[in-house]
This record gives sequence, C-alpha cells and structure tokens, in this order.
Amino acid sequence: MKIGILAVQGAFLEHRKKLEALGAQCVEIRQKGDLQEAFDGLVLPGGESTVQGKLLRELDIFEGLKERIIRGIPVLATCAGLILLAEACVNDPHVYFGTLPVTVKRNAYGRQLGSFHTIQEMKGIGTVPMTFIRAPYVEKADPAVEILARAEGKIVAVRYGRQYGLAFHPELDTDNRIHELFLKECRK
Ligand code: GLN
Repeated sequence: MKIGILAVQGAFLEHRKKLEALGAQCVEIRQKGDLQEAFDGLVLPGGESTVQGKLLRELDIFEGLKERIIRGIPVLATCAGLILLAEACVNDPHVYFGTLPVTVKRNAYGRQLGSFHTIQEMKGIGTVPMTFIRAPYVEKADPAVEILARAEGKIVAVRYGRQYGLAFHPELDTDNRIHELFLKECRK
C-alpha cells in the first residue's frame, strides 16, 4: 500500500508518521516528478489553502493530481485539504480541485474558537477526538455527499465517492481509526 502525501506546505509529516505506523508506505509529493510513482491513495494535509493552491500551480502538479482525483483515487483531505477539494468557498473566490460538491467557509469559527478540541460521533467509526485549527466547515453539501460528522452544529466531515473531507486534524490525535478507515478504502 503506497500513499501519496501532498508535501508542499503544512502538516504532511504528521500524516506520514501515522500512516507508516499503520504499515503503509508513503511518498511525499513535492514536484512533478513525484507523480510518476504509482500510489493507491492521496492525502491533502492541513496548512494554508491559498499557499498550497498557489504552489500546486507553480510546481506544475495541480493537473496531475486533479486527474487522479477525478479518476477515483481515495483522498483523505484535512482542513486546508478540504478547502482544496471544495467546489466553492463562501469567503474566498478561489476554487482549486473543485471535485467535492460542497461549499465551505474558511476560518469559520471566528477568533474565540480559532482552535479547539472536541469529541464527536463520526459515522461508521463512533466517537472520535477532533482538533480544529483555524478550521473551515461545510456550509452546504450536495445531496450526493454523505455527512459523516458535525461539531457545534456544523458539518465537519463528509464523504463523496472516495473523497473524504474533514475540517479537523485526525493526524494530530492519537486515535488511528480515521487513517485506518482511509487505508481500508485504499485497499479496495
Ligand atoms: N485556515 C486555513 C485555510 O484557510 C486552514 C487551517 C488548517 O489547515 N489548519 O487554508
């Protein structure tokens, strides 16, 4: 099992450590040449979506990744990664991959709740810890999108086909079940 992790900016290392501990091999995607390797799943980590989006274009890896997502590679997108997948964002005119039919809101929790931790129910898993850092939430989702979790009444985890979009950071908690679920999807 080989997982490609977008590694141009943000919290990619934490995903790598977790996936490797679960027995997966990881390849960090930093330049176009890295896309020549075959991989069974893709991680889009948290960080700064505007910076990541810009680097994806500058490093000429945007089209190659988008093509794989459209062809159906399993994707685990967290926080900024969710923004990269979203079809629209209410407070940012940029659209990146646009392969996930949801509208997100960036930095959606305001100053008071810039970062917080909670434990909520996630469909198919049970209660999971959720760490939010200047996180987005999903404001609107197409009926074809499965809602997996809510926090503070807002949608914070979705699945659309093989794309998983999470507003929080499962790579920062000790719980492994979300990464295990993702690897299971990659094995299918
Ligand atoms: N605030 C960031 C953005 O809008 C996302 C934060 C994160 O990934 N932790 O891109």
